[in-house]
Amino acid sequence: MPIYLTSAFSFSDVSDMDAIYNQETDGYIYARMAAPNADAVSEILVAADGGEKALVFASGMAAITTAVFALVSQGDHIVASRTLYGGTRDFFENDLHRFGIEVSFVDMLTEDVRERVRADTKLIYTETISNPLMEVPDLEKLSNIAHDCNALLLVDNTFATQVVAKPLSLGADAVLYSATKYLGGHSDIMGGAVVGSAGVVDKIKRFQTLYGAILGSHDCWLLARSLRTLELRARAHSENAMRVALFLENHPQVEKTFYPGLVSSPSHERAKRQFENRLYGGMLSVDLKGGERAANALLSGFKTITFLPSLAGTATTVSWPAKSSHRFYSRDERLKIGVTDGQLRFSIGLENVEDIVSEIDAALENL
Ligand code: PLP
Repeated sequence: MPIYLTSAFSFSDVSDMDAIYNQETDGYIYARMAAPNADAVSEILVAADGGEKALVFASGMAAITTAVFALVSQGDHIVASRTLYGGTRDFFENDLHRFGIEVSFVDMLTEDVRERVRADTKLIYTETISNPLMEVPDLEKLSNIAHDCNALLLVDNTFATQVVAKPLSLGADAVLYSATKYLGGHSDIMGGAVVGSAGVVDKIKRFQTLYGAILGSHDCWLLARSLRTLELRARAHSENAMRVALFLENHPQVEKTFYPGLVSSPSHERAKRQFENRLYGGMLSVDLKGGERAANALLSGFKTITFLPSLAGTATTVSWPAKSSHRFYSRDERLKIGVTDGQLRFSIGLENVEDIVSEIDAALENL
């Protein structure tokens, strides 16, 4: 597909323009409203998620904030997982109250969510695999609770991808993505996406046009390129992560390994039931026995595994949630949700898995 590097589209006459505005014929007007490359990549996302419509955004946060603003109003209430990506948590905790929107944070695994919804609850919001503890909530149950009280279930499916989980088929009304991560997959674009029913996505579309966070044509083209290999990549990330998780789980320097593919994970049975293809994603975390000191030493011991605050590229990378994604939580709150001072999170890449294991093994040996 060509890259349509244009901000506006011309018309042969006014009736031509009117017909496009009135949606009587297909066509484009202005690239903040809609553009060919954005539509092309949205079509792929609709197929991948089994939705009806999709939109692509300039970042994952643009997708999340636009979707939430489109679906709630002053006086509404949101029930959200207490372990969310730091930016989402910041938006929910520190920004939405300015608009008269209240958010209750809930432990989706241990609390009875039904008891936390109210007459004014309009959204239940969660992630398919939480960061960094890799917990998996019961999406079918959450969608039943949401629909029983006329609310919508929104699911951030960034860590899982459509290859590992399809929240729409479990009852979610829309799924959200940071396309910066696995969908892009090569660490070269920022992007976001929303996929869902036509009714929900049409509501969000109006606010995408209004707030102006559509993904640019060049990045849409790169994203479409990446989606061609999403299935292959997601499988390889997952298979490699399973092997690394099994290695770490039995290592004497490791206190705990967090990965939903491990039978020892409290989320394993739910993940097995909900996930596709017996895959569990490419993300895992570890608590080291030596705590913060050991985490520091491990990072310095890596040769090719780089320390950076992102994930889902082709190469294995490591991040330190307490110091990056969760640095804005208070220490007490962070420890309460299980994100310890020395916990490291790995994004397992596409390298030969024995190379990944031997690099981690060598660094652990030197602790
Ligand atoms: N959702 C999850 C699960 C994330 O990990 C991130 C970013 O790390 C985001 C949303 C936000 O996406 P972006 O950085 O593309 O705005």
